[in-house]
Amino acid sequence: MTFVSEFNSLPLAGLVDRARSASATAASHAARKSALSLSDFADLISPAASRLLEEMGRRAHQLTQQRFGKVIRLFAPLYLSNECINNCKYCGFSRDNPILRVTLAVDDVRQEAQALINQGFRNLLLVSGEHPRFVSNGYLANCIRASQELVPSISLEVGPLETEHYVPLVQAGAEGLVVYQETYDRAAYGSVHTSGPKRDFDWRLETPERAYAAGFRRLGIGALYGLSDWRLEALSVAAHATYLLRHCWKAQLTISLPRLRPCAGAFQPLTQMTDREMVQLVCAFRLMFPDVGLVLSTRESPKLRDGLIPLGITMMSAGSHTEPGGYTGAGKEHLHHTERGRIVELGASEWASNGHLHATEQFNIADERSPDQVADTIRSLGYEPVWKDWEAHITTGNGVASHRRPTASPVQSQTPTASLIPAQGNALGEAPEQFAKP
Ligand code: SF4
Repeated sequence: MTFVSEFNSLPLAGLVDRARSASATAASHAARKSALSLSDFADLISPAASRLLEEMGRRAHQLTQQRFGKVIRLFAPLYLSNECINNCKYCGFSRDNPILRVTLAVDDVRQEAQALINQGFRNLLLVSGEHPRFVSNGYLANCIRASQELVPSISLEVGPLETEHYVPLVQAGAEGLVVYQETYDRAAYGSVHTSGPKRDFDWRLETPERAYAAGFRRLGIGALYGLSDWRLEALSVAAHATYLLRHCWKAQLTISLPRLRPCAGAFQPLTQMTDREMVQLVCAFRLMFPDVGLVLSTRESPKLRDGLIPLGITMMSAGSHTEPGGYTGAGKEHLHHTERGRIVELGASEWASNGHLHATEQFNIADERSPDQVADTIRSLGYEPVWKDWEAHITTGNGVASHRRPTASPVQSQTPTASLIPAQGNALGEAPEQFAKP
């Protein structure tokens, strides 16, 4: 049995209903429990629980410090290729988008990895679109090996594969696999994935289990908020995480909370999740899963990212580029334009008229601070930025990894206060603000 059967028998409609209408008493009871069920989680993400955010924030803060110490792990995405055979309406890399594309050569990947090392990173996420012709298994294995010569911790976010095709990637040195279901709402999934192998909902849903069977020992899951009701997505992620903790127990699990960002194709979000709801969800995930890492990317504004650090986030990207070659300009000479999936080489006049061409990004980021600026902010909040992922043989007894850059003297930790929690209603970041960029 895989998670697909369990997901199919999940009383999702009832849980969503509960998450929309839980009483204040039920929410308050759930916020104080030490072991939570999915029904309790539904109560915690209800509008009634929104009024308990101070209390939830305090508990989330305590639990995070107990289990993870006062550290935030930093990582950077390294995009290998923006070629893709899928059409996902919400993604800049969609096959039919007329954009500039490139697949980095292995030497280009090495150059990008070196640039990230120079910025301090020791933990990279190799990302690519899904295109077997450009991004073959052999290519991925070569990119992993080239990166691993320089960087100790490598994870992948690439098109889903069969278990036997994951094995050589694990052997090449990849430790982690990240795969978002995007949306757990089957109807929404069908409508936003209009062509390509990604249309197979169940195949994607089983990916973390295939990755675990192949030997990956870090698994990342999540939903992309903005495609369906955020409470349905959150409940499904919680059910998925519960299943993986039970069946893939040798792996470290992380949950990411990406919200849609502007990208080529100009897709507009179908649903909204306010900043206050995002804060509530981070707290609810922490209360439900005290030992699961929570990941926040540069999709969110600096203000929200900083405010979420004391509330449960354990891992962040920083200084991200979401296009291949984004850190060094590597691969520019192989840029080409595509029109409905067909390659159109750039002519000499196009090069001459615009010497600054670069591959198209997957989405705009919202936090444009440099890695050092993010690290300084983490320190100013009383936490320590850790540039490498956890590793058993270098983890000290108090759960704090010893592989760190020198830091300034730590200052007193801030505890969650009203200043960190957005007010009711539209909150500090108002979802529409996310789409202010072109
Ligand atoms: S979301 Fe992934 S699979 Fe879909 S178009 Fe973008 S890169 Fe391709």
